[in-house]
Amino acid sequence: MTSEDFRAAAHTAADLAADHLAGLADRPVWQPMDDAARSTLLDAPLPAAGRPLAELLAAVEKDVLPYPMGNGSPRFFGWVNSAPAPAGVLATLTAAAMNPSSAGGDHADVHLERAVVRWIAELVGFPHPAGGGLLTSGTSMATIVCLAAARGRAARAAGWDVREDGLAGMPPLVGYVTGETHSCVRKAAELLGLGSRHLRTVATGPDGLLDVAELRAAIERDRAAGLLPFLVVASAGTVGTGAVDDFDPIADLCAEQRLWLHVDGAYGAFGVLDPAIAHRYTGMARADSLALDPHKWLGVPVDCGCALVRDSEELRSTFSLVPSYLRDEAAGSLGWFSEYGTEQTRPFRALKVWATIAHRGRDGLAQDIARCTALARRLGELVEADDELELMAEVQTSIVAFRHRAAGATGAAIDAVNRELPVAVQRRGRVFVTGARLAGHEVLRACLLNAATTEADLALLLTEVKAAARELAGPPVDAR
Ligand SMILES: *Cc1c(COP(=O)(O)O)cnc(C)c1O
Repeated sequence: MTSEDFRAAAHTAADLAADHLAGLADRPVWQPMDDAARSTLLDAPLPAAGRPLAELLAAVEKDVLPYPMGNGSPRFFGWVNSAPAPAGVLATLTAAAMNPSSAGGDHADVHLERAVVRWIAELVGFPHPAGGGLLTSGTSMATIVCLAAARGRAARAAGWDVREDGLAGMPPLVGYVTGETHSCVRKAAELLGLGSRHLRTVATGPDGLLDVAELRAAIERDRAAGLLPFLVVASAGTVGTGAVDDFDPIADLCAEQRLWLHVDGAYGAFGVLDPAIAHRYTGMARADSLALDPHKWLGVPVDCGCALVRDSEELRSTFSLVPSYLRDEAAGSLGWFSEYGTEQTRPFRALKVWATIAHRGRDGLAQDIARCTALARRLGELVEADDELELMAEVQTSIVAFRHRAAGATGAAIDAVNRELPVAVQRRGRVFVTGARLAGHEVLRACLLNAATTEADLALLLTEVKAAARELAGPPVDAR
């Protein structure tokens, strides 16, 4: 292949990407794949002989691009999946062309990652000592990184070297979560050998926030039983309703009890950029660690999470296998990223983060985020004004939890309809919304992450939900 072949193909690839992004608003948000299209991918035989780039691009155009997940569309309200920031899309090509391993060394990607991690910390107002964080594949991995540091500190305080000796023989370390906490925390606790049995589910108030009095009582019970409370996980935006915990009283209790406070800000931490809701985040900066996802509200193309840790030495002492006497302390060196997390060879995620933030600037990002929260509040109003719909939680950030309620319908019937509704709405192709279980009810939850979404899109979402509900109810009795 000549460099001219590559250049020609790269131009075609750029056109495909641009056409894809430009066409998103005018096509169905998502459609089920037909059997033949699915089989083309699923059953693709291993090619013995190679094919020219132009043919591969033609195959991508025909077999891949027509079948997106849907999250590029302004009418996609599902889960927590954003449209890609265009600057970030472009950056992925350049980053791949350079293809470094961002483990460490004196090359652009390593320095850029230091800078963008600091930018992320500055965006959300989290303290950032040099070395106090790194980019990860997502918040699931960032949570493992942060909780490993928390585990190390707690074990050390109890006289154990968990890296050398493991946890066997130690009194159990106990962590505190709520029923709204994302499953990645349990996964991290299981992987770190803590045991999900030692994660206590603390009650929440009617607003879905962690109840601090219940937390205190649970900690006291566990101490009395000879266990070692060490961790509290609070949420800067739960997946179900976008609720933000009241951080100050939780941080006070953690300081008093010497517990590690971890905040899961995967979805919602960047909401602090919106002056209208920034007050909800008071005290978030007091956490020992914060996990968040640039690949959600910032729109950095997947994958990109970030772990921020208040004390960078906690991180390094958890993961570094470089003996301290070999570290380049004299030069003030931070060492390698591989001393601060689980990965050795690491991708050049920093360039797409740099491009995404630099393209919009802090002010542009804040505007986009404020637009999403305003849209969410508007959607909440539209739901409340509609007799067929019911708002199921206060709109705190940019997630709206609601359900369909036909006149005269009762508990089980309402749940049955709302359980079926997400897929019924999705199959119609005009909007995409997903569901959740909330306080024992089946609900729909719309997540607003796309500043290109319009008020007309919100109205369409509700029209579609009601139309799908009628479809599920079947034709009127006299028409059967
Ligand atoms: C998405 C999400 C996670 C998991 O993050 P990944 O990036 O998918 O690994 C954790 N917590 C919350 C609140 C989330 O929204």
